[in-house]
Amino acid sequence: MARLVMKFGGTSVADVERIRNVARHVKREVDAGHEVAVIVSAMSGKTNELVAWCREAAPLHDAREYDAVVASGEQVTAGLLAIVLEGMNVNARSWQGWQLPILTSNAHAAARILDVNGAELVKRFKERKEVAVISGFQGMHKETGRITTLGRGGSDTSAVAIAAAIRADRCDIYTDVDGVYTTDPRVVPKAHRLDKVAFEEMLELASLGAKVLQVRSVELGMVHNVRIFVRSSFDKPHDIDPHGTPPGTLICGEEEIVEQQVVTGIAFSKDEAQISIRRVQDKPGVAAAIFGPLAEASINVDMIVQNVSSDGATTDLTFTVPAADYERSVDVITKARGAIGYERLDGATDVAKVSVIGIGMRSHAGVAAQAFQALASRNINIRAITTSEIKFSVLIDAAYTELAVRTLHSLYGLDKA
Ligand code: ADP
Ligand code: ASP
Ligand code: MG
Repeated sequence: MARLVMKFGGTSVADVERIRNVARHVKREVDAGHEVAVIVSAMSGKTNELVAWCREAAPLHDAREYDAVVASGEQVTAGLLAIVLEGMNVNARSWQGWQLPILTSNAHAAARILDVNGAELVKRFKERKEVAVISGFQGMHKETGRITTLGRGGSDTSAVAIAAAIRADRCDIYTDVDGVYTTDPRVVPKAHRLDKVAFEEMLELASLGAKVLQVRSVELGMVHNVRIFVRSSFDKPHDIDPHGTPPGTLICGEEEIVEQQVVTGIAFSKDEAQISIRRVQDKPGVAAAIFGPLAEASINVDMIVQNVSSDGATTDLTFTVPAADYERSVDVITKARGAIGYERLDGATDVAKVSVIGIGMRSHAGVAAQAFQALASRNINIRAITTSEIKFSVLIDAAYTELAVRTLHSLYGLDKA
């Protein structure tokens, strides 16, 4: 007997028929004798609709009320799944984040989980063989008791946090693909599924654009050593042997990966914007005058490129910010113009960041150089580059994203045979 967390994303619970399919997956595990906690997302498209309603009500709204609205999507699916399970003679009860509770920080719309109380769930596993159906994405602020949400894609994080709290043997993330691929399989049909991915690599893949797992869920998995298994909810529940090894990807410690490739995967993100400040004064304190106010405005600056001044007086400085923060960033820099001292500000939102990730890069030189050559041969211009130990990223025109991803995917031998 094992204790399992099973998380189902939006497309897997998109309507009552799919919820019935999810219930069959849950029943399969219960019948095999396992203790099960299920975490559900809202029906696909629901959270987008709720977010749009908040914006329609008032473009600038109170994040506490945003959370009250958007958390409702998960409440519906948790209740529906518990109803369907009961109908299949599986003992089940739904739980909202505040009922457990899942305590969070007060960063409404992007709250961090601080503590999860799983005691009641475990008691009910033992006493009533009851399946816990928990609304993902939501929690409760530790002090005010108000509903919070964990940021988009946050149900993954709910699942891993609950798995850690109840000491689950495994956290299965059921989604609309059967695992983590070398890149988004919807963009590159030649992408292949990875059997195992190290936490560190998954962290980079997720934070650089692969939305299959929320970044925070991978961080939590790494800290608490939760075995995360990404698999498909569309496999027929009755075809799966609960004691066998289904297709999927295990996110695990690096030491478990025997055959390490140099490059594991490629991620990309079009949610980027570029800002170039022309003829900035080249003197001490200028970087602080630019990035200080951006940090104060809670804007995450990513890539930074500063040229060496040719005349000793002025230089150009380029950086990227999330596309959603572009206008705010321009506003912050324009207001700080007096302190910074520059001639002109140029911006672009039609840019994309393509990143190549692999733990093997630690011990291999020249991996990035190969990419620059391959992109050049496709006439793709690189606007900025950043590198770190296990990844490098290039900023390019958004129109070339797919071409760049496909080119690099082939270059590093990731295309499936
Ligand atoms: P869910 O609703 O189940 O949480 P998401 O839409 O959040 O599902 O995440 C699954 C999607 O992530 C897939 O449909 C796929 O298009 C996308 N994706 C992006 N990069 C990858 C990758 N490297 N491997 C697998 N899926 C990826
Ligand atoms: N429903 C939320 C979202 O769409 C959380 C999730 O699906 O993980 O972002
Ligand atoms: Mg998701």
